[in-house]
Amino acid sequence: QDSRKYTGIVEDCCCDYETVDSLNGGVLHPLLQELVRTPFFRYFKVKLWCDCPFWPDDGMCKLRDCSVCECPENEFPEPFKNPSLRSDDLKCQEGKPQAAVDRTLDAKAFRGWIEVDNPWTHDDETDNSEMTYVNLQLNPERYTGYTGPSARRIWDAIYAENCPKYTSGEICQEKRVLYKLISGLHSSISIHIASEYLLDEAKNLWGRNLELMYDRVLRYPDRVRNLYFTFMFVLRAVTKAANYLEQAEYKTGNLEQDLKAQSLMRQLLYNPNLQAACPLPFNEAKLWQGQSGPELKQEIQKNFRNISALMDCVGCEKCRLWGKLQVLGLGTALKILFSVDGKNHPNQPLQLQRNEVIALLNLLNRLSESINLVHEIGPSIDKSMEFT
Ligand code: FAD
Repeated sequence: QDSRKYTGIVEDCCCDYETVDSLNGGVLHPLLQELVRTPFFRYFKVKLWCDCPFWPDDGMCKLRDCSVCECPENEFPEPFKNPSLRSDDLKCQEGKPQAAVDRTLDAKAFRGWIEVDNPWTHDDETDNSEMTYVNLQLNPERYTGYTGPSARRIWDAIYAENCPKYTSGEICQEKRVLYKLISGLHSSISIHIASEYLLDEAKNLWGRNLELMYDRVLRYPDRVRNLYFTFMFVLRAVTKAANYLEQAEYKTGNLEQDLKAQSLMRQLLYNPNLQAACPLPFNEAKLWQGQSGPELKQEIQKNFRNISALMDCVGCEKCRLWGKLQVLGLGTALKILFSVDGKNHPNQPLQLQRNEVIALLNLLNRLSESINLVHEIGPSIDKSMEFT
């Protein structure tokens, strides 16, 4: 018997939930998991200082699991290594001079990647000495203990001021899209917290907290639908940028791994199963059509930039890392779909920063992982919760 709860077509998409589940589980998820492990995609360059423009008083989370750990030297791409900065122990990055990297190597390692503005994000795109590299594989997105008023006011500010929840028919499609993207990302973050949860602090025992997954996401069908919507939206952005992503150079100095990244990228971009089953995961051409289209776009762009700025207020380093990465990933998807190539931007070729590409593909992987979890364990949780 099929215990599937979600049926029909994913909102604004061209295929149904069942197709998304089988495409994701059978093809996309395994490809993405491999891709994000390659050196190009596992190192993210980020400014982790607490630089909150809204609540400067917000302190750092004191929990050990909130801290980000520096890349150990042997993990680092060869061209980045700087013997004078070698350190044997893993150190948390915030403010540690040991985490500094020889930035002149950047240009050599990533030839062809440029600094270019993203109108959807608040981040300063220029490379500077406050940025550090983080090995994402060593800093998984999971439970950190970050909760309470600090976390709550960020989500509240995001929803209340920048993308209010809509009731159907009440607001335009474009604002609904922004709400669904944020809600879908929020669902994904909650699913990752629940799927890697500290079950017993004394024993340092980690595992799945199914009750939390149910309470925060699965019991709300719209949160699950928004997760699928966000996944398809980002997938559309990635496939729309196929020409650019195919030709980009994924150089880190490790020839074998760099070729692997390129090959996995091609398999993802031109996947015959995806093209056959779901050729247009989201149709961006339907948006910004009315007379007020350009002003509306400016307004929503400003809202999204605010959301991006709010990430600097996340009071836990590891949550801030993943918050910044994923919001940059969404901002990159928005840029690909709405800020180049369209009728308001004739002749503007797509240009992405290295960090944008890393964020975009890591975000897609996180969403894909969340969908896999919902699909695999959702039905059994729903069943067990019925009897509690
Ligand atoms: P919250 O998740 O804080 O939700 C607040 C309110 O938002 C809910 O009461 C509900 O009304 C609404 N809401 C919840 N989910 C949705 C949804 N999908 N769509 C629409 N509305 C919704 N904690 C970690 O342990 N690890 C992390 O990596 C982590 N990363 C974070 C990243 C960011 C950017 C932020 C802001 C917080 C992060 N947190 C992280 C904290 C975590 O998201 C929660 O805020 C915290 O666990 C407290 O949860 P809560 O039950 O109060 O509900």
